[in-house]
Amino acid sequence: MPKPINLDDLRNEARNLGFDLCGVTRTDPPPHFDAYAQWLDKGRHAGMAYLDTPRARDARRDPRMVLDGGASIVSLGMRYPDPRAIPDPALDEALGRVAAYAWGDDYHDMFPPRLQKLADLLGGQLHAGFGSRIYTDTGPVLERDLAQRAGLGWAGKNTCLISPTGGSYYLLAEVFTTAELEPTLPLRSDLCGSCTRCIQACPTACILPDRTLDAGRCLSYLTIENKGTIPSELRPALGEWVFGCDICQMVCPWNVRFSDPNAGQAFAPRAGVPRPVLRHELRLSPQEFNRKFKNSPLRRARRRGYLRNVAVALGNTGDRSTAPDLAFSLLSEPEPLVRGHAAWALGQLGGHVARSALEQALGSDPDSAVQSEIRVALESAP
Ligand code: SF4
Repeated sequence: MPKPINLDDLRNEARNLGFDLCGVTRTDPPPHFDAYAQWLDKGRHAGMAYLDTPRARDARRDPRMVLDGGASIVSLGMRYPDPRAIPDPALDEALGRVAAYAWGDDYHDMFPPRLQKLADLLGGQLHAGFGSRIYTDTGPVLERDLAQRAGLGWAGKNTCLISPTGGSYYLLAEVFTTAELEPTLPLRSDLCGSCTRCIQACPTACILPDRTLDAGRCLSYLTIENKGTIPSELRPALGEWVFGCDICQMVCPWNVRFSDPNAGQAFAPRAGVPRPVLRHELRLSPQEFNRKFKNSPLRRARRRGYLRNVAVALGNTGDRSTAPDLAFSLLSEPEPLVRGHAAWALGQLGGHVARSALEQALGSDPDSAVQSEIRVALESAP
């Protein structure tokens, strides 16, 4: 007879598979589903309509819908690099900034084989007819709420799960199983206390007092999930971020406390990704984009979204030496979304090269949305 799996065995196996955090919770409804539903009702999920289908709501309300006969959920967290722990490259170039979870390979590709190994271990040691499902940000699961109930940490004011032994630079994953596993104890304390550093640091004030985010103002949403125009009033707030944002985590004292340059080795940065050279990125062809970001989370933004962000970041540098690159984009880039944001960026930089490219494109660009960006840019260009 196989011996029943205990928590220590499970945690050891999870650790061998690279997961730093591991806990167990039942498939009862997550404690904060109602708050989540109110967040949807207020439209705070912006353009992420996939979050608000009837099935997505039902499954998040009742995790038993995810797996027939599901009894337990193994909640897991894997640490990724600390964005403060890696020094900036010494380059005399305008650089962008990529959120640290996206520096290396995509966890959506990396996690499933590891999660399946853990599911197989549970299945092999328990009973015939055992069922399991694995998730990592890939289905209708309130991951953070389940992780909190499994004792992995607490939900900070910045809405991230924060481990009291490691901070918040973790990616979450789950194995749903039909096995009856002993739940681990939730962390009952809110260790944010009176701190409000993340709220003060957010450049778009997207962190709300009820511990939710106004996604339509969050730089992570605007640079990744948002597939269209970035509202012009929020573009300056992007600063140098070209994919995601770590600001609310970088200022968190729990991450400062557990800062570790060796953490998150599984997500070792690819060359040039943490701090890409903006001028080069703006000229990436579709083939070069696909090659550079093969198996990378940056694919999520697609080339046109990424180059849109790069154009905005260049506009925010105020560096007129980059105007020829933006002019090249405005006059030859096939994607209107990128041309429109390149026009905005040229309007921010101003100067002879910028004005002349805007005037040339005003008479030739076939897209009405780009034309209107050009007109506004010409009016505002210094
Ligand atoms: Fe909580 Fe302060 Fe961290 Fe925000 S910065 S999540 S308030 S501890």
